[in-house]
Amino acid sequence: MSTEIERIVPAGSFCPNEECPDFGKVEAGNLINFGHTKAGTQRRLCKTCGGTFTITRGTIFYRRRTSQKDIVEALAQLAERGSIAAVARVKGVKEDTVSDWLRAAAEHWETLEAVLLADYRLSRAQIDALWTFVGHKGEKGDAPKKTRKAPSGVAP
Ligand SMILES: [Zn+2]
Repeated sequence: MSTEIERIVPAGSFCPNEECPDFGKVEAGNLINFGHTKAGTQRRLCKTCGGTFTITRGTIFYRRRTSQKDIVEALAQLAERGSIAAVARVKGVKEDTVSDWLRAAAEHWETLEAVLLADYRLSRAQIDALWTFVGHKGEKGDAPKKTRKAPSGVAP
């Protein structure tokens, strides 16, 4: 059902190593810039686990045509406006596309929540409203939990 869904790992905002104690912690102070790839992509080093990664690694919907920023923005707007149609209009995409992003987001809601809360200053209530679109209430609480990679995603 979700084979086309790619991971949502916000670019470089936290360690993407799921084995790392700081996995999913946005701006936990564990990441430092670590040069660039030949292609000019920022590389980062996690001081906690010692892993390095490029900020595009595992990036949200990397097969998709819309940029990560646009998609996360769209989801943030969706949380605020509560209307898929409105967000689709603003972003100039089909409503189906927004729904698709939302479903993808729900697959990895734990990591996305951290970003929406931290970087987009959304409230818990707004996040909860967002998840109601996909029938997933999220979880009351703070830090994202570690999850194994599950091809079928996170069960509601
Ligand atoms: Zn790490």
